[in-house]
Amino acid sequence: MKFDRIEKCADCGGTGAEKGSKIETCSVCKGRGTVLTQRQTLLGMMQSEQTCQACRGTGKSIKNPCKNCRGSGYVKLTKTLEVAIPAGIDDGQRIVLRGQGNTGRNGGAPGDLLIEVRVRPHDLFERRGSNLFCEIPIAFTDAALGAEIEVPTMTGKTKFQIPEGTQSGTEFTIKGQGMPSVSSKRKGDLIFSVAVEVPKGLSSQQKKILSDFAKSCGDGNNQKKSSFFKKFLKK
Ligand SMILES: [Zn+2]
Ligand SMILES: [Zn+2]
Repeated sequence: MKFDRIEKCADCGGTGAEKGSKIETCSVCKGRGTVLTQRQTLLGMMQSEQTCQACRGTGKSIKNPCKNCRGSGYVKLTKTLEVAIPAGIDDGQRIVLRGQGNTGRNGGAPGDLLIEVRVRPHDLFERRGSNLFCEIPIAFTDAALGAEIEVPTMTGKTKFQIPEGTQSGTEFTIKGQGMPSVSSKRKGDLIFSVAVEVPKGLSSQQKKILSDFAKSCGDGNNQKKSSFFKKFLKK
């Protein structure tokens, strides 16, 4: 990844002075970096210490400032870093790289680099916490008769036996095939629902078979439909 970071200027080594030029002690604060100010108040003279405005607290006076950093001693550089993404990291979670942030001012420790992760959505899987969801279309004959279907997983695919009489929208769970966890060894589950597809473009022969089949069906074969109309006719 690429990011901007403030570092010590390499040309002047962070001093802010052009190479070979002299750095003098600030005449305003005498090199202390701070100045004392006195104020007359109702309680008497109040004294306070403030950062020297002339040298911005460095205690030094630069006659010939470094051209690369304009005398500040720091420059903004674009850095490229390879960052390891832990398995199972979720959208919005942060990776902290200690000491990879901006250089500390006046000899302070460098800051940290905070990386907020954005996870792109997947074509097939939807993530809900540590579980993965997907919808799998199945033929209506497979739903009626039961069948072994192929289920996509994170690493490839697995076989799953759906029972006969499976309704559209039924959810099945495959344990441990979900997302890994960043903080533990636990894994989520893969949950899939089936969408029963009604066949289209039937030949006249197929239509004949299906209409013969339909004639053979009774209330017991379509329980939802028959009970729905029983409720309807009661009113
Ligand atoms: Zn410089
Ligand atoms: Zn000063």
